Amino acid sequence: MEALLHRAYDTEVMTESKGKAVALMSGGLDSALAAAWTKRLGFPVVGLHVVTGLVDQRDLVRAQGAELGVPVRIWDAADEYLEVLKNPQFGRGQGMNPCLDCHIFLLRKAKEFMEQEGAAFVVTGEVLGQRPMTQNRQTLALIAQATGLGEKLVRPLSGRLLGPTFPERMGWVQREDWLDLQGRSRKQQLGLARELGISRFTPPSGCCVLVDPGFSARLRDLLREKGAEAITWEDLSILRLGRHFRLGPNLRLVVGRDAQENEKLMVFGRNRYVLMFSEVPGPVGLILGEPNEADLFLCAQIAARYSDAPKDAPVRVHIRRNGEEKELWVTPLSPADPRLVQWRIGVPKRL
Ligand code: SF4
Repeated sequence: MEALLHRAYDTEVMTESKGKAVALMSGGLDSALAAAWTKRLGFPVVGLHVVTGLVDQRDLVRAQGAELGVPVRIWDAADEYLEVLKNPQFGRGQGMNPCLDCHIFLLRKAKEFMEQEGAAFVVTGEVLGQRPMTQNRQTLALIAQATGLGEKLVRPLSGRLLGPTFPERMGWVQREDWLDLQGRSRKQQLGLARELGISRFTPPSGCCVLVDPGFSARLRDLLREKGAEAITWEDLSILRLGRHFRLGPNLRLVVGRDAQENEKLMVFGRNRYVLMFSEVPGPVGLILGEPNEADLFLCAQIAARYSDAPKDAPVRVHIRRNGEEKELWVTPLSPADPRLVQWRIGVPKRL
């Protein structure tokens, strides 16, 4: 690779006749490398970051663009992506991650953008064999076909190992100009990043909440409760916060785990019951559903279990909804109460 790298440096020429590339950039290292390498080969490159709502990397991608000298466009497609997330055509991974649908969605957006920009092809940071489910030969071919990009979908990091590409057919590059990375090791990418001056990127194997077992369990539970069609981004935002307890078919309690989560849970309190403590440090509880009096009492007891109140004496819990407030005195549930585990949704890392 070293020799190839230096050859590319030596022959870097901005050839006006070369078509423009759209580089799909996630904030990760591989997609930044693909953009940088394509630029090294003399193509005009414009970066595209599609916001899916799962994680917001727009600032990072802008910073990568600045580092690489590549203009970056941000496309907020969260509402459309929600539909993919609810009803993936190609199924899900070990968690609720619909990786194949996700790739196809992002690349369809890239294709749309390519056409708007009058660009000639799309590049991604996919590496052959890096992820067994989505980056094997068969799946890479399927993605190229399903997106309608065909040979205009270029994976510069593994290009020499894959089929012919549109830029090759146009005579803009030779096959040997692409790289031949494959497999899960990151060593070559990290070396290349140093050579190409890329210093900012998300850690490998990233931050997708959909692969998290706890989040996935909560999402499965919510799908059972509401059905896919009714799920909103607000639902998903709440799933990311706190401990979740299923207390009835349409009744959940969320209990904050720290001050930051408590604050965020308050934001979702409109038209909902919110539980708080004033005399001892304690969590915010958010009730999702329509509790009766017994449910409210139980929710207060569960929330109190996570407060600093003495475990054998009643504590005051404030219960608010739309500006109205009442108080309940409850004895916290014992941390050893087995029902806590039964009610808890997901893999409890800490009860
Ligand atoms: S891990 Fe998440 S972000 Fe990555 S492809 Fe899968 S669903 Fe999409």
